[in-house]
Amino acid sequence: MIDNSKTLLAALTVYRGSINLVTACNDAFTELSGLTSSVIRNSNLADKLILDKNDHNGNLDTLFDDAMHSEEGIVTNAKIFNQFHYTVGAKLHCVYEGCDIFSLYFSASENKSVDPITRLPNGWALISRINYLLENSRIALKNMVLLILEADNFSAINFRYDYVVGDQFLSLLGQRLQSLVKSFGFVIRFSNAKYAILIEDHENLPELILKRRIELICQNLCFELAKPIVISDELAINKSFSIGVSAPGYEYHSYHAMQIAAETVKQKAKKYSINNYFIATPEPTEDYLRHKLIIEALPKAMSRGVIDIHYQPQYDMKTQTLVGLEALSRWTDQSLGVIRPDIFISIIEEIGLHFEFDLWVFEKVCKQLTLWQRQNIHAPRVAINVSFKTMEMSTFIERIKQILVATGCPTHFLELEVTETASINNTKMLSDNMLQVKALGMHIAVDDFGTGYSSLSLIRTFHNSIDKLKLDRSLVDKVCHTELDKNFIKHIIELGRILDVRVLAEGVETVQQLELLVELNCDYAQGYYFSKALPLTEVIDLIKHDTEVV
Ligand code: C2E
Ligand code: CA
Ligand code: CA
Repeated sequence: MIDNSKTLLAALTVYRGSINLVTACNDAFTELSGLTSSVIRNSNLADKLILDKNDHNGNLDTLFDDAMHSEEGIVTNAKIFNQFHYTVGAKLHCVYEGCDIFSLYFSASENKSVDPITRLPNGWALISRINYLLENSRIALKNMVLLILEADNFSAINFRYDYVVGDQFLSLLGQRLQSLVKSFGFVIRFSNAKYAILIEDHENLPELILKRRIELICQNLCFELAKPIVISDELAINKSFSIGVSAPGYEYHSYHAMQIAAETVKQKAKKYSINNYFIATPEPTEDYLRHKLIIEALPKAMSRGVIDIHYQPQYDMKTQTLVGLEALSRWTDQSLGVIRPDIFISIIEEIGLHFEFDLWVFEKVCKQLTLWQRQNIHAPRVAINVSFKTMEMSTFIERIKQILVATGCPTHFLELEVTETASINNTKMLSDNMLQVKALGMHIAVDDFGTGYSSLSLIRTFHNSIDKLKLDRSLVDKVCHTELDKNFIKHIIELGRILDVRVLAEGVETVQQLELLVELNCDYAQGYYFSKALPLTEVIDLIKHDTEVV
């Protein structure tokens, strides 16, 4: 019954009976849907096709009625279920052939479910597939596990080679993922070098077994992805990957929550390790909501000055006099309550607000120091936390200078505390900016020293610009535990001497720790033994009581 002049189009023949039975299909339809003709023939049309809700009320009977009364047939929008049960958009031409038989011709409209570079399904297809599974009660969300996988720093490929190589990389990576995952997962590409794999557990496995299975899949992926992607005989590209996985066996309240969970742990994988995976632990729904609410509330909290600065005193080890203050942000939201700084700082970094936020704190502290000066309050040097990411910005120095001029704050009151990160992208800019910070008269301290893996190479490179190393709390915490821990700190302090930088111990909580650190010749200390971070009024009392400017 299919019109041969139109056979280049995907086509179906349908017999309208108690169900709309597909009686024939052409090759173009099997190609479009990815289904075999034996699956299509004798199936119910309603399982293979949905009409756009806006046309014919989404109702096939209405379409057929209309087609029976139109000589040219009816042209409308439809979606075809393909082999993965995600839908492919198409223009549909329905022609009545008589005797309750209809011919349906499809021309695939822009196929919004396929990624043009890799030919893999995309994020839209993934949602469509999940909806299909949920709506048809095939499996519940707790039987789905989402892996999000991303090549680290993919844009470097486009910059180093060109976009053609970048596209080839993405396409080959897609193929590799698909061949690794084979039939047990649904591979899609979201964007750039970000892919997802949906693993469906149709057997309703016990949580532990499902988790073990997922771990094996992740381990295999990490192993296989460590092998280079071969672009040509001359070019093979090695990239590291970060994988985040939603909590296996956990019933998320929505697909969106599941995706956020996988994304969040993927960020963690990216931050802490190379070629590794993190699996989310089940968390109450409120945490995701809270995360979202924090993101929404943050810009307002900054603009309305709701985030406050507290100051934690720093002391000279030997004389136990006040030598500095560390500015630490405190945020209490009217409805969200107290939001811990490590939580909102990581969100700030995640949404790319770190530059503006660090400068906002810098300005607030400068204003405070200028005010103290006018009020004859002799404050010691104040340390401000600034991420390396902020410091390597090309406009950093210019913005700092503007703030210094606008507030009139003397630079010798200021110290910038930088925390090393796994990814310093622009060492040249960072090094220039550090030198300029020094030239302006400010001090630089390296925060959390002894935790990151680039500590040593970092201070080796930048020791001329660094004034202080801040020994991380986790090391100080152990100093009294074993001889090894004590020796560890002893040698860091000696390293400070060699490099001519002072050493401050963070998180000093007990007199035993303090005494041992004095014995080891540590210069300064900060921690609950002395004081927690204090609000403005309390820190003013403290400054008035005991001050010595360094
Ligand atoms: P950090 O820079 O390492 O700051 C020291 C953290 O240790 C502070 O936590 C401080 O309250 C806490 N602390 C100090 N002494 C002790 C002690 O004896 N024992 C224990 N257990 N903890 C101690 P806080 O204020 O919660 O800040 C957490 C992190 O958030 C900071 O770690 C810093 O990385 C970040 N942060 C806080 N405020 C800012 C800010 O204004 N800008 C930026 N960029 N980061 C900030
Ligand atoms: Ca700090
Ligand atoms: Ca620290």
